[in-house]
Amino acid sequence: DRDYIGFATLPEQVHRKSVKRGFEFTLMVLGETGLGKSTLINSLFLGDLYKDRRIPDVAERVAKTTSIEKKTMDIEERGVRLRLTIVDTPGFGDAVNCEDTWKACSAYIDEQFRQYFTDESGLNRKNIQDNRVHCCLYFIPPYGHGLRQIDLEVLRRLHRKVNVVPVIAKADTLTTHEVKKLKERILADIEEHEIQIYQFPDCDSDEDEEFKQQDKELKACIPFAVVGSSTVLEVAGKKVRGRQYPWGVVEVENPKHSDFVKLRTMLISTHMQDLKDVTQDVHYENFRAQCISQISQ
Ligand code: GDP
Ligand code: MG
Repeated sequence: DRDYIGFATLPEQVHRKSVKRGFEFTLMVLGETGLGKSTLINSLFLGDLYKDRRIPDVAERVAKTTSIEKKTMDIEERGVRLRLTIVDTPGFGDAVNCEDTWKACSAYIDEQFRQYFTDESGLNRKNIQDNRVHCCLYFIPPYGHGLRQIDLEVLRRLHRKVNVVPVIAKADTLTTHEVKKLKERILADIEEHEIQIYQFPDCDSDEDEEFKQQDKELKACIPFAVVGSSTVLEVAGKKVRGRQYPWGVVEVENPKHSDFVKLRTMLISTHMQDLKDVTQDVHYENFRAQCISQISQ
């Protein structure tokens, strides 16, 4: 089942009637240049999104992202259709200051809301395309000591518009202990600076024990420590995505090596519908309320 990414469980999360229409989901990635955003997207979705840049087997080459790049793919698993859109954003850093980046991202998010609002007020309300950004992965550098001023600045501009899911980039450069410490620092910074990240919903009390345990483990992972790679290596006769070190291979999909699989499961399989619901009920409602109050003034 390796080639499945797992959204076939989506119908269980929602009413059956959505199945025929299919699902639409948009994921944005954001953070400093060079933290592995494009690589992670590539790893998350089997490289399918970047077919034009075929995954090189040996050398790694991911072109630098210089403007907002939107890629959409229609995929189907076990009769469930998903239109997945990835919004890759130019990172900030030496050449691009963070203000340019958050402004571009914020404008992109607003523009999708505005389009949805226009469509919703129009005559053909049945077949509206939902291009709203349902989740934004925010990449935090592994070499810092938590959130930096620059991260706070960017997050403050976006956290009330979109579901922010923080991730620690390039977790393979840290020891298990360092990852644990950094996670604590980041969570403390998030709380201290009142950054609103996506809140995982409480588990229903009628769920079975195994589900509850999984849910607990998932929540304990935040912020997800991830590793991406566009290199396929051979480990014990199996082809895996990984990063080669003198002492061995860090496997992207090995739960002992990173939270990559947990993040992917959360995004694609277990929490996609909730991310969409929160986008609709909280972020879009905020936007709509602002539009309406402007119109009535
Ligand atoms: P972006 O600017 O955030 O999109 O970053 P890229 O995906 O272009 O990656 C920048 C560099 O970091 C490339 O050389 C990648 O090979 C490397 N890289 C990407 N992901 C990882 C990771 O998880 N760990 C390590 N050690 N390096 C990574
Ligand atoms: Mg990039």
